[in-house]
Amino acid sequence: MYRIPFDRVNWVTSSFLIGTALIALIGVPIYLVKFGLDWFQFAMFFFYVTATMMSITVGYHRLFSHLSFKAKLPVKLFTLIFGACAFENSCLNWASDHRRHHKHVDHDEDPYDISKGFFWAHIGWLLFKLNPEPPMDNVADLRKDKLVMWQHHYVHWIGLVVGLMIPPLLGYLYNANIGLDPWTGALGGFLIAGVARVVVAQHCTFFINSLCHTVGRQPYSTSHSARDSAVMAFLTFGEGYHNYHHEFQHDYRNGVKPWQWDPSKWTIWTLSKLGLVDGLRRVPDGRILLAEMGEARRKAQKELAQVQEKTKTAACQRAADSLHEIVEKLSANYHELEKAVADRVQVSREAMNAWQNETRQLMRDFRRTSAMLAA
Ligand SMILES: [Zn+2]
Ligand SMILES: [Zn+2]
Repeated sequence: MYRIPFDRVNWVTSSFLIGTALIALIGVPIYLVKFGLDWFQFAMFFFYVTATMMSITVGYHRLFSHLSFKAKLPVKLFTLIFGACAFENSCLNWASDHRRHHKHVDHDEDPYDISKGFFWAHIGWLLFKLNPEPPMDNVADLRKDKLVMWQHHYVHWIGLVVGLMIPPLLGYLYNANIGLDPWTGALGGFLIAGVARVVVAQHCTFFINSLCHTVGRQPYSTSHSARDSAVMAFLTFGEGYHNYHHEFQHDYRNGVKPWQWDPSKWTIWTLSKLGLVDGLRRVPDGRILLAEMGEARRKAQKELAQVQEKTKTAACQRAADSLHEIVEKLSANYHELEKAVADRVQVSREAMNAWQNETRQLMRDFRRTSAMLAA
């Protein structure tokens, strides 16, 4: 029978996570029914949820954990202050966990290892401490950053003041200014832009560790559980292209295609145009395409091996032969691009598009033939 390991419960974190969720789920609907929602409360919620999530994705994640670009003081300060408001611990702690997640993904040392189950990856790893706390020996670079260390020491105070005290204060002042009951405004600010926003931001972040390792496609690699999903990208400010991210973690983009929903990448790019960040790291297009073509080829090879095992009749043999031909073509293209990338030959955009389209067409042919065989 399933037993809750009470001796391993992380009581402070658990009380906070469950307490804030209960306040949000019970308090917010009662408040809305009683007082309604005015535009100011909504605007505050919108600002806070965006600032908090962006500070996690742009700051904690892409800047501090992966060093995918360099930032000037205002960007660092903003993301460290509003990152603290997410109540996901200090940037130093967060980056240490996250770097371990990438290094040991899907294995025991991965703090939010999806192979321990969806619940564990989402929130269980915070509620229970099943392993001894690992040493934070992978963030020596961040320890040299005075701002990061300042945030590390005062993270809970910053979160409390900026994340949970300023919204009620602003709600109070706004209502007082327009002649409404100021305490109603304060309560609304606390419940909506304060507590409910923390809960929303936290679960959107947790989704990256749970759903982004469960739902979606794996166009770049199946060697880890991370997946690409546009729906998840929408819920996570662009972090849903997680298969790409695990393959190329130092790229400042997660949604690498121009049309992919990634507000965090657009923000970083815009900040670079404003001179507030620089040194944006991008994986060359040839290497990205090579990963895609390599993965297509691996999938086709695997399926071909399964088909060949079952082939009995002459008609099946003919179909298997044409599948084999497709795999050969995929391999030939792959090796050609691999050589070009290794020799650092400049491959034109047209040539890359042609390769990409051919790979897609070959994979469509492959699936059609293999579906015919299965029927
Ligand atoms: Zn991941
Ligand atoms: Zn990452």
